[in-house]
Amino acid sequence: MPLVRAYIALGSNLGDRIGQMQSALKALAADNQLKVLQISPLYENRAIGMGEADDFLNAMAEVETSMAPLALLDFCLKVESKLGRVRTKEWAPRTIDLDIIAYGDEVIEHERLQVPHPRIAERDFVVHPLCAIAPNVEIRGQRVAHMAAALPMDSLTLCELKLELV
Ligand code: AMP
Repeated sequence: MPLVRAYIALGSNLGDRIGQMQSALKALAADNQLKVLQISPLYENRAIGMGEADDFLNAMAEVETSMAPLALLDFCLKVESKLGRVRTKEWAPRTIDLDIIAYGDEVIEHERLQVPHPRIAERDFVVHPLCAIAPNVEIRGQRVAHMAAALPMDSLTLCELKLELV
């Protein structure tokens, strides 16, 4: 398989949020079919539609991988369950959430995987971390920097804490 550049969004709003995100990054990097090239700053974001849930921490990783798209999805799901993610309902707090935002230039409409992730442009907690590491990448024909300029940081704040590139 050729190496493909992909973007994976990390989010957590339950338990040791930064510890879990750091563990997820470490688990991603530990696979010999994947290399983490960049990690964005951390952003904190109010959990919307989850009642009294804790705030989210969000970040974006740029990776290079020889995994096919569905293999990358299965790998992300495996890392999530290894880190204790239990799926209850759709909008429930989560120890860790990994979403494939883009996989090279591919457009994938599979029952298990939509890439580029369909709701990127409306999510400040995806667009701004992505813009911090890949402003010139184009998603569905639109530069990320352009998407970020059009999307105010609503309840999103930049954190001083940082994830370490492992
Ligand atoms: P979530 O609750 O956001 O973690 O949803 C995970 C489910 O969404 C997975 O079981 C996938 O089958 C599906 N899914 C569809 N597109 C994507 C994507 N781009 N990245 C991650 N999961 C996806």
